[in-house]
Amino acid sequence: MAQNVAAFMENVIAKNPAEVEFHQAVEEVVESIWPVLDKRPEYRKAKILERCVEPERVILFRVPWVDDKGEVQVNKGFRIEMNSAIGPYKGGLRFHPSVNLGILKFLAFEQVFKNSLTTLPMGGGKGGSDFDPKGKSDLEVMRFTQSFMSELFRHIGPNTDVPAGDIGVGGREIGFMFGQYKKLRNEFSGILTGKGLNWGGSLIRPEATGYGAVYFAANMLGTRNETLDGKTCLVSGSGNVAQYTIEKLLDLGGKPVTCSDSGGYIYDEAGIDREKLAFMMELKNVKRGRISEYADKFSSAVYTPVDRDLDHNPLWDHKADCAFPSATQNEINEADAKNLLKNGVYVVSEGANMPTVPDGVNHFVDAKILYGPGKAANAGGVAVSGLEMSQNSMRYNWTREEVDQKLHGIMKSIHDASVAAAEEFGTPGNYVNGANIAGFLKVADSMLDQGVV
Ligand code: NDP
Repeated sequence: MAQNVAAFMENVIAKNPAEVEFHQAVEEVVESIWPVLDKRPEYRKAKILERCVEPERVILFRVPWVDDKGEVQVNKGFRIEMNSAIGPYKGGLRFHPSVNLGILKFLAFEQVFKNSLTTLPMGGGKGGSDFDPKGKSDLEVMRFTQSFMSELFRHIGPNTDVPAGDIGVGGREIGFMFGQYKKLRNEFSGILTGKGLNWGGSLIRPEATGYGAVYFAANMLGTRNETLDGKTCLVSGSGNVAQYTIEKLLDLGGKPVTCSDSGGYIYDEAGIDREKLAFMMELKNVKRGRISEYADKFSSAVYTPVDRDLDHNPLWDHKADCAFPSATQNEINEADAKNLLKNGVYVVSEGANMPTVPDGVNHFVDAKILYGPGKAANAGGVAVSGLEMSQNSMRYNWTREEVDQKLHGIMKSIHDASVAAAEEFGTPGNYVNGANIAGFLKVADSMLDQGVV
């Protein structure tokens, strides 16, 4: 088996040079589904896997805009339309200086299987820009997003491709992009998700990814007849996913003790309670400040700035039961994974996409901890985006309780489908294999049905 995976990967790497994150994401999926291909030769014959690693369409464009000093700036714009076998392309937009083609292809590839797992009819896509919203005025962000949408609008549509938010794209950015789309098309339609409640948004969409990651952890713990009550939890990031992860942990009796941004992290031994969370949300969502200010405000917290010379992230080196990486890809390296295990962590539920490097994943799987990969654990966000699309189509809004109940049900079904697939293919308890296989089967069968397109 290993040789076949290696040969497949050699080809992927040769055809997509320098896209290291894309190689990493593909290899992880291919390793999981190779036993499926052995059992289902029709997938091989129809070259399903070869087609899955080739985006259906990649759109690259120039995004010129004028900053507050009157200077012209130019950024790159991208949209990867990866796979539409089970529905319109669906996936977020990321605005971050690190954005490049390889990162967006990895995210789009993951999104295909994640969306399939949600049980909702959504294909996979991803997009964004190397624009950095940090330090920009609201007017600069508006001019940039309007320019971005002035090109993107011709490629998307409620039945074609429906983007959402991701790193650097929250309610403010979605609002500006929606406004520009509406102006250009003269049409009010559910073209983006994560919209404001007054103009087509869904209740629980901002909360969904974080809540979902916590529900997923609770489901995993349920297999051992345990709950989150009283568990100490390490959380990274302080953006959308981290904030609502912390909120739901508090609801379920957990004790979150860390959060971070790209400058450093805080460790609050007393726990991040509701008052501190409210401060953090105001700091990040309104004042757009730095997490170090949390430690200035609360004496129970210690701030540690990022030290690029360290071979590990000290955030992951505290005694705890659970970890919720919620910042970015590859934020848990092999040393971090070992530290987590050494410190007693036995639940890892990934709010971020691909936050653990492959060697780290291997340590978690070998240690047989409850390890929920992002594809499964953070699917709550896109699931509620799917529910937002349904509500837009019906021109009707569900209540907060209705959406939360549906989110709960979807996270449980993703969990159970992953457990069942892992068992069926001989690796019980392995959520990586389970999620990859369960997500793949539905896409692969749909591609078979639709012929060579
Ligand atoms: P936000 O932009 O709201 O927050 C991101 C957080 O992570 C910030 O605290 C940011 O710090 C930190 N961060 C980002 N990049 C880096 C980096 N390179 N190094 C260190 N810290 C970093 O994004 P989200 O919360 O929406 O997204 C977080 C993760 O969750 C991403 O992996 C995203 O793909 C994933 N995800 C998000 C979903 C959603 O619904 N929003 C859905 C599913 C997955 P700083 O502000 O200093 O940059």
